[in-house]
Amino acid sequence: VSDEFELIDWIQKCQRTNSPLITLGIGDDLAALKWPADDLLLVGVDQVIDGVHFDSKIHSMNQIGRKAMNRNLSDCAAMGCLPAAAVAAVALPRELSLDRAKELCAGLRQAGDAFQCPIIGGDTASWSGKLVLSVTILGKSAGIKPVSRSGARPGDAIFVTGPLGGSILGRHMTFEPRVKLGREIAPIATAMIDISDGLSRDLSQICRAAGVGAMIDASLLPIHPDAAELSRRDGIPSLDHALHDGEDYELLFTSAGEFPKAIRIGQITSEPGIFIRGNDGVSRPLVPRGWEHQIGP
Ligand SMILES: [Mg+2]
Repeated sequence: VSDEFELIDWIQKCQRTNSPLITLGIGDDLAALKWPADDLLLVGVDQVIDGVHFDSKIHSMNQIGRKAMNRNLSDCAAMGCLPAAAVAAVALPRELSLDRAKELCAGLRQAGDAFQCPIIGGDTASWSGKLVLSVTILGKSAGIKPVSRSGARPGDAIFVTGPLGGSILGRHMTFEPRVKLGREIAPIATAMIDISDGLSRDLSQICRAAGVGAMIDASLLPIHPDAAELSRRDGIPSLDHALHDGEDYELLFTSAGEFPKAIRIGQITSEPGIFIRGNDGVSRPLVPRGWEHQIGP
């Protein structure tokens, strides 16, 4: 990008927030927020890199900006908190045009706006490397106890909020963060995580954090049509795609109660180890195999 000042001017002009939390937004050395005394501040950071999480030759700048923000919003969903504001740091390839850089920032902002999460600061730099975006999100507990990963108890049911697998066909760029659902689930959940690394890997995080195990029922697992499509192309069973593919961004949670909007897929066990009961009734160890998408060369 040749004219960073013009970009920063433009970003500043499009900023509009009516959030009562924001005392100072973009334009000063730091932003300032007035935080309610009885509210917990939750903080997280997440980055996306060209060639790892997206491919700038295939995906639009708007989509890339949206993904960077939506991954952070999905982390808010996983904690049951509400997004409050975000700051973003962008390393722009020197040859990227000003218009494409604006499109990137617009994508970030539009994804945040959908959840009343304004961008209140950031940093841009041009360099000879690939596009990298890092977003730091601030969330508020807003009356709900944040849900950690470590509270699963033997006997709890295991739920997911939607069908899994094959997100690489496109959903990994266009998913909707489950912020509203996360708020509804939080009061009844004992543990929660968003599925970014694949069900098997993210479930193992929950089990390890609580020193418990899990039994998944293959017949209950919701398999996304994309997993079936991918299976036709690569010959790997669609069940394996649903179990191990990353970047579904559905919520995975455990609860002693019921939650009709989610799908029950199994149960937490006191014996450590994760098993899957097949359609033949036989239980086999489920070895975590989740992976981060390697997009591009
Ligand atoms: Mg997460």
